Amino acid sequence: MHRDGANKSLWQDAMPVYKPKHKIIPEQVVDVLVVGGGITGLSTALALQKAGQLVLVIESHTIGFGTTGGTTAHLNTFLDTTYDHIERDFGEKGAQLVFQATSEAIESIRKNTEEYNIDCGFGYKDGYVFAQNKDQAEALEKLVQASRKAGMEIHYTDDLPIPVPFEKAASFTKQAQFHPTRYLYGIAEALENAGGMIVQQCRAEHFESNVLTEVRTNLGVIRARKLIFATHIPPSINLLHFRCAPYRSYALALKLNDGNYPDALVYDMYDPFRYYRTQEADGQKYLVIGGEDHKTGHNDNTDFCFSKLDSYASKYYDIEEVSFKWSSEYFEPADGLPYIGHLPGFADNVFVATGFSGNGMVYSHVAALLLRDLITTGQNPFQHVFDPNRIKPVAGFSNFVKENADVVREFIGKRLSKEKIESLVEVGKGEGKVVKYEGESIALYRDDRGTLHAVNPVCTHAKCIVQWNNSEKSWDCPCHGARYTADGKVLTGPASKDLEIVELKDLVKVE
Ligand SMILES: Cc1cc2nc3c(=O)[nH]c(=O)nc-3n(C[C@H](O)[C@H](O)[C@H](O)COP(=O)(O)OP(=O)(O)OC[C@H]3O[C@@H](n4cnc5c(N)ncnc54)[C@H](O)[C@@H]3O)c2cc1C
Repeated sequence: MHRDGANKSLWQDAMPVYKPKHKIIPEQVVDVLVVGGGITGLSTALALQKAGQLVLVIESHTIGFGTTGGTTAHLNTFLDTTYDHIERDFGEKGAQLVFQATSEAIESIRKNTEEYNIDCGFGYKDGYVFAQNKDQAEALEKLVQASRKAGMEIHYTDDLPIPVPFEKAASFTKQAQFHPTRYLYGIAEALENAGGMIVQQCRAEHFESNVLTEVRTNLGVIRARKLIFATHIPPSINLLHFRCAPYRSYALALKLNDGNYPDALVYDMYDPFRYYRTQEADGQKYLVIGGEDHKTGHNDNTDFCFSKLDSYASKYYDIEEVSFKWSSEYFEPADGLPYIGHLPGFADNVFVATGFSGNGMVYSHVAALLLRDLITTGQNPFQHVFDPNRIKPVAGFSNFVKENADVVREFIGKRLSKEKIESLVEVGKGEGKVVKYEGESIALYRDDRGTLHAVNPVCTHAKCIVQWNNSEKSWDCPCHGARYTADGKVLTGPASKDLEIVELKDLVKVE
């Protein structure tokens, strides 16, 4: 299967590209159109199809292409935004609702694996969080207290299932794990067997919403009564882009010489924190360790993040081999909780699920149940705490949208001298760089055969300048997280237009 990065994740291994029953979009009006074939889109589609709706999922690439193919697949009620922070910002009741919603989400994943007989190694595990200095120990105490109030079974412990020194630790029950892409393929099949449709290589490019929504795609126009954006971050320019910051996180799957694999999910308390677990795939165990997060496009050498993670792991583990390394993107919500419900600024029949931080495996199923209920009954017990309309428009937002609705200034008609550029900048094979040339910024990439490619580095979403990601070989936008291939094709929204290709010519010979 394919993913939105050059590195291969553990979850792509031995997984062929999914082959859905449908290749073309249906002519009939569907009840619900779900845009995005990751875990959120497919679990929501399945929940709605089971509730009697006719559902179509469209995916711009192939299913699992987004962050679902690059996750680490811990299933938690213990969240990146800890319960002391949720309680501070949403009250005790809010924290209890979040715990309840995420507990029900894990249970719904378990039920799906059972009902559809999905061989994805779902299993409950204990979780551990540990402090390594005095400040962290104090923070841990607050976290434990608030987690208990929210409903978690959590207690202090003197043992950790990993060989890392600690000052104080706590353990909690009823977390879980699974193989995410095997699960994804399982629910995709279940959706199709229940009469739902999946069309791959179908990108939503533009939508109009009234009583019916009309979505223009590269395969034609789709009409639907309800529209859900399960695209990780919604397309076009929306208030939520100001409330969700894009981040990149790194993971390694390691074979160990001594078989010292932890049978638990473990987290340290640094910011960014590191996370550990074990995954068995085709009879082989791996230690999966993740961390080194940073804001998208804010790191000049993303390869180095893997080296740091590797040398950290080597301090504590006897590593036989780094079998897989990969990184992927997530979206951090401004106030710590996801946005699931009606998409602000659009008609009542347009919905969204975004801002999942590093907990989207579970929040995807919170979204599935919540959006199913909103669409079929108009209410759900968790709709207020996750309501995207809880946020107020930021000052100057409409001006921003107006300005950015203009097309990006293009290079059309401009041919740049290849020799001159080659003489001014050095770009090695496999390397990318944004350079200034005659007052313009240009993004240059030299492929492994030595050919130099140039694109306009202005992101087609909101005009920020993209940055080169040397480990995943992509152009990443630091503002709202849009990503493009080395030759400028959209990998990840919110952009829906490719970067403009700039012609590099041997002007001496041409003219
Ligand atoms: C390294 C890393 C580790 C993580 N670990 C965990 C973890 O242990 N536990 C956890 O709960 N969460 C984890 N997360 C977060 C979790 O993986 C994500 O929140 C989750 O996968 C998001 O799923 P999604 O379906 O919403 O988005 P995606 O999987 O990104 O799917 C969105 C899909 O929409 C498609 N799309 C986009 N635009 C369009 C369009 N215009 N038309 C058609 N299709 C479109 C994309 O191609 C993509 O396939 C991790 C994240 C990272 C980066």
